[in-house]
Amino acid sequence: ASIPKPYNEPMLNYEVGSVQRKLLKEACAKLRNETIEIPCIVGGEEIKTGDVQKQLICSDNKKVLCTFHQANAEVLQKAIDNSLAAKSKWEALPFEDRAAIFLKTADLLNTKYRYEILAATMLGQGKTVWQAEIDAAAETIDFLRFNPKYAEEIYSQQPPANTNGCWNRVEYRPLEGYVVAISPFNFTAIGANLPSSPALMGNVVLWKPASTAILSNYIVFKAFREAGLPDGVIQFLPGSGRLVGDILINNRNFAGLHFTGSTGVFNGIYQKTAANLSAGLYRGYPRIVGETGGKDFHFLHNSGEVDHFVFNTLRASFEYQGQKCSACSRAYIPASLWPTIKEKLVSNVKEMKQGQSDDFSVFVSAVIDKNSFNNIKSYIDHAKASADAEIIVGGGCDDSVGWFVEPTIIVAKDPHYKSMEEEIFGPVLTIYVYEDSKFEETLRLCDTTSPYALTGSIFAKCRYAVQTANQILKSAAGNFYINDKCTGAVVGQQPFGGARASGTNDKAGASLNLLRWVSARTIKENF
Ligand code: GLU
Repeated sequence: ASIPKPYNEPMLNYEVGSVQRKLLKEACAKLRNETIEIPCIVGGEEIKTGDVQKQLICSDNKKVLCTFHQANAEVLQKAIDNSLAAKSKWEALPFEDRAAIFLKTADLLNTKYRYEILAATMLGQGKTVWQAEIDAAAETIDFLRFNPKYAEEIYSQQPPANTNGCWNRVEYRPLEGYVVAISPFNFTAIGANLPSSPALMGNVVLWKPASTAILSNYIVFKAFREAGLPDGVIQFLPGSGRLVGDILINNRNFAGLHFTGSTGVFNGIYQKTAANLSAGLYRGYPRIVGETGGKDFHFLHNSGEVDHFVFNTLRASFEYQGQKCSACSRAYIPASLWPTIKEKLVSNVKEMKQGQSDDFSVFVSAVIDKNSFNNIKSYIDHAKASADAEIIVGGGCDDSVGWFVEPTIIVAKDPHYKSMEEEIFGPVLTIYVYEDSKFEETLRLCDTTSPYALTGSIFAKCRYAVQTANQILKSAAGNFYINDKCTGAVVGQQPFGGARASGTNDKAGASLNLLRWVSARTIKENF
């Protein structure tokens, strides 16, 4: 094995008076004072299409963080042609050379770009300093360091048996065509992972970053290039999802999709792909890899530790304003513990400081954009008007300065109340209080309430309860936690992904994901 043994990047703590805190504050102030103009990049060429959009500061939404040029049909076609031209040289490059580029990117992001990418993630995606640190620094770097190690394991998997006079081997070829990467706003790390993992396996990639995460994703792209990524291997294509879908997916050379985003958009692409396939457009079956929505749960048994449950539930529900696919958005609490827990949840939420994402004393900031604000508000308004629900804390929404939604807790009388079932993607937790004697019945309810199956947690000291939950909830979460919160999977430790309506479960941060970007060829040679 020649790839360096990966380790998880340690987190900085930005304590008062530290150099790191000073540098990060300076980086935030600098970004607030300038407006960078970001082009499309095709074959290394910067293209300004003139179709300009803005990325705003979420918590200060009259301020423009950067402007970017959206790819049009002509640019997308050029990107396809240029990728296909770059393909043969890239795939012929030895794996170690490809790996070196991404390992070097990790180093650049960790040093030269560390504060810039953090500041871009804080202001542009509304992350507090701690949320930005675990994402734009730690997880981004971890993906880039662990993936080469996983890739090396794949390349070394060879048939264990040969008969006399014969040599069997397997070659892990890149896909025939190009891969499309469509990344979300909520993790800069996913922006780095979606294009780089197929490229690491020898593919050329057309990357459409989320319009609300352009600046941080552009910094990732700059770091790829600076680390030596040849022109044309990854194309940087901000723009409209629909146009990208129409042009990049409706093409004979479309060979794979690496997607994170909403279930609705993913279903649309899946359908388009199926229709193209039956019309005979493609050469083969495109690899469709997607991580989509979630309606993730915390389930408390009456043997669970109350303070531990409260602390973890508050973190999983409200850190990053509940905008992680993994965020806890429904909880099941036994009636015997409810009065104590209710009091603790409410008093803690009241103390949460909400404000500008670059204010280091803030715990929650604003949500990503106007659409999201309006959507979350509609759930809160529904709860205010419904006889089946009661808001016990929060409920305020104010978009006059930024898209601020207060951390909100709804108690549902009906376990099938709207916000127990539907994904909201915001700081809203809905709770159902169950009778202690109905533990198993409520577990079954939890399993069947939502179409998603991304993350979930059981909190219990009683081992029988843990085991029962583990069995009944077997298919309810791709990432299942016992006495821990349902967010915060670490690359190299908890491979991440869900099934059912949450995606294809091709675990990010694991060799399973990288295996999807190769098409194996078995070779038998007789001597
Ligand atoms: N991997 C992240 C976590 O475990 C969530 C990623 C996502 O939101 O897609 O919290």
